[in-house]
Amino acid sequence: MTHTSANDTIAERLQQLECIALQLETPATDRKTVTDAVIHYAENFLDSLEDKKAYVISEEKGAGITSLPVSESGHDIRTLLHLLETQVDEPGLNPASGGHLGYVPGGGVYYSALGDFLADVTNRYAGIFFASPGAVRMENMMIEWLAGFLGYPETCGGNLASGGSIASLIAIVTARDAMEVKARDIERSVIYLSPQVHHCLYKAIRIAGLHECIVRHLPLDERFRIRPNKLAEQIAKDKADGLKPWLVIASAGTTDTGAIDPLTEIAGIAKKENLWFHIDAAYGGFFALCDQGRELLKGMDLSDSIVVDPHKGMFLPYGLGAVLVKDRKKLMASHYYIANYMQDAHRGADIDSPADLSPELTKHFRGLRMWLPLQLLGVQPFRAAVEEKMLLARYFHNEISQWENMEVGPTPDLSVVVFRYVPTSGDADAFNQAVMDRVLQIGRF
Ligand SMILES: *Cc1c(COP(=O)(O)O)cnc(C)c1O
Repeated sequence: MTHTSANDTIAERLQQLECIALQLETPATDRKTVTDAVIHYAENFLDSLEDKKAYVISEEKGAGITSLPVSESGHDIRTLLHLLETQVDEPGLNPASGGHLGYVPGGGVYYSALGDFLADVTNRYAGIFFASPGAVRMENMMIEWLAGFLGYPETCGGNLASGGSIASLIAIVTARDAMEVKARDIERSVIYLSPQVHHCLYKAIRIAGLHECIVRHLPLDERFRIRPNKLAEQIAKDKADGLKPWLVIASAGTTDTGAIDPLTEIAGIAKKENLWFHIDAAYGGFFALCDQGRELLKGMDLSDSIVVDPHKGMFLPYGLGAVLVKDRKKLMASHYYIANYMQDAHRGADIDSPADLSPELTKHFRGLRMWLPLQLLGVQPFRAAVEEKMLLARYFHNEISQWENMEVGPTPDLSVVVFRYVPTSGDADAFNQAVMDRVLQIGRF
């Protein structure tokens, strides 16, 4: 075959393929049909939130989603939205509902969804400054805004990750490298944390190859907070035994009780003993937006790294957790990489790129899901919402403290209230489990 006739064959096949492949580039009229249907669905969903259950018990548990297998040709949008409604958006937990009792609910600030929509339509590549300088500046600007109310310097480094767990992993890896914990030292290296610490930190420690470190669970006070003098004693003892203390993790709002560890005291000990100080503020950090919260959370600025979750404290839809590291060079030292096919990416960039500050290269442009609601609404409603949650928790705590047979935990610092009903006879745990099961059956509190 000559080159010409070979290319004729290719050209013929290309024509056939193009006709089919062009479906991926949806024409405007089809786009409108599907977009309209999706918006209609979204509006219905939002309009019915007030009445919808926060939890739906179902026999099928969404199994119907597999009744429509992936096939060579596509399906009508109405068919797909119906499946989504009945199999996905019905069963289980509805995070956006206001009717929760015992679980950590999510938010779902709507403008964030529009930010995601725009990020996906324009598909800007926010990994590297060279590729999308504006997108990278926007992400860095969000980190700077967080730094502002967390008390971190403008010169810190940070990253918008997919959630608190990945953000924590980035912090732990940075700490490991900054403290020069080498493989040969691991079995003698000591990590200090609260038994109330979120399990994602154990995961981060393991994934970072540090599970053979010695982990000290510190004694807590009556409000489930680390006792700093016990930390100091344990470090002194470990040092005397020839061990290498290197990391202390505190929580600014634990998941179980909302407890805030004594951050300033712990920071003082960490500094004196030359330990990396990490704070998990995934849940609690945003309470610093209001005056009462800022007072309670004093000392967050004294850490070496900190994690906050905009998909918790800013009520954004899931998919955004942030890590901040005070010394940006340390964050970068653990995460930058130079590949020869990316020679242009690093030319003349004096602006930090997310790809150098996290394990990700190609990534979702997450800045937009935070920037759009913040810029449309301003900070004020976010500030008001966190103060409102704190006051609601206090109000609730004050009320139920008056109730007979109600066993009530400590006055809440943030928005978690611990309580249970102790019946005059019978097992209290079984009784409260029955109450919870009943609440789930009813589906809304
Ligand atoms: C939710 C939470 C995490 C984990 O964050 P994800 O975003 O769920 O990965 C870590 N720490 C605390 C205190 C949390 O509340």
